[in-house]
Amino acid sequence: MPKRIAILGATGSIGVQALEIISKYPQYFEIVALSANENVDLLTEQVNKFKPSYVVIADENKANRFKITTVNLKVDSGSKSLLNMAALPEIDIVLNAIVGIAGLKPTLAALEASKDVALANKESLVAAGSIVMDTAKRNGCHVIPVDSEHSAIYQCLLNSNDIKEIRKIYLTASGGPFREFDKSSLKSVTVEQALKHPKWNMGKKITVDSATLMNKGLEVIEARWLFGLLPEQIEVVIHPQSVIHSMVEYVDGSVIAQIAATDMRLPILYALSQPQRLASDIPKLNFFEIEPLTFEKPDFDRFPCLSFAYEALSIGGTMPTVLNAANEVAVEMFLNREITFEEIAKMVRKAMNFHSTIQNPNIYDILDADTTMRKFFNHRKDDLI
Ligand code: NDP
Repeated sequence: MPKRIAILGATGSIGVQALEIISKYPQYFEIVALSANENVDLLTEQVNKFKPSYVVIADENKANRFKITTVNLKVDSGSKSLLNMAALPEIDIVLNAIVGIAGLKPTLAALEASKDVALANKESLVAAGSIVMDTAKRNGCHVIPVDSEHSAIYQCLLNSNDIKEIRKIYLTASGGPFREFDKSSLKSVTVEQALKHPKWNMGKKITVDSATLMNKGLEVIEARWLFGLLPEQIEVVIHPQSVIHSMVEYVDGSVIAQIAATDMRLPILYALSQPQRLASDIPKLNFFEIEPLTFEKPDFDRFPCLSFAYEALSIGGTMPTVLNAANEVAVEMFLNREITFEEIAKMVRKAMNFHSTIQNPNIYDILDADTTMRKFFNHRKDDLI
């Protein structure tokens, strides 16, 4: 019987690639539910092609543009409907490909309903890692990484039954479009330059996060929760070729790496098919043609967002929530050309300085820290920059 899948954020970069790869395996996967936020035209095309039985348009103002009415299709709108969708009894696995904190409540709703979650929405784990992982444990279900680095670590860990055997993990990073820029050149980089990622074609928010290296910082926090590691066991390595997707170093000195073509469809497919591997037509690596593999230390001075993420992780409690909220607001302002590239890091720094951390937060503390930080930004935009 095929695995029955709900895709939250079906109209984004991950959602579209997921549908593309899923369409090749009708005997293994069935699309039961899809959600969009604003892109009703693309959602309409997807519904015509994949014939789900449930759709949600998160942005209520856009819902009236969705015109398909058939008896076999239930259509809802509003962010609360995403929670119903994530918990539908007829679903086996939820792929959460929503961007930003909007993905957190749907992740928790799916886990509370004992659904396995293939998680692309890293912000869920950054903002509320301990709550997400506890919810999965309490309900006997799993959080399966979609992020290529975490998928790599997940696969490298198949060799081990005991977390004590891991000495450290290496999260690889391409270094983004500004890897070779000096500090003064970073002052004048444009939105267009930041959106030109050298290796991956992704949504705008994660592409800017890759340019500031905040994406790698968010991934450090994500890895801490997914794999139960200490911050000092997680090291970032700049690897511009993006051939090694990440590595695990074991206590005996062996390093196991996951190596593959740079194609997000692979970790998406694995998250949905695991523990099985399905034959795919995703391009294969040709070891005789790839560029030489190189490795560098990240530069925390030029890319301070990475050190802010380590700092937020070691402070713990609600600090990573605030790091995430401040970064989301700052990236949006950068994309709207209200602040410069450099000011993204400045805003995150000021937000962290302002915040009084609550340790061992519950979900209300997390949501409150997130909302308070966003309000703070709205009221004091000018003196934050
Ligand atoms: P995109 O911006 O391309 O897509 C985001 C999706 O979320 C869209 O379907 C969008 O709907 C929907 N969405 C946006 N805001 C809301 C909201 N408030 N409520 C409900 N749905 C919303 O993002 P990506 O696909 O690039 O990234 C998705 C997640 O996956 C992010 O957390 C990212 O960090 C992570 N990720 C992405 C990778 C990639 O290669 N793209 C790689 C690894 C991780 P609509 O388009 O209809 O407005």
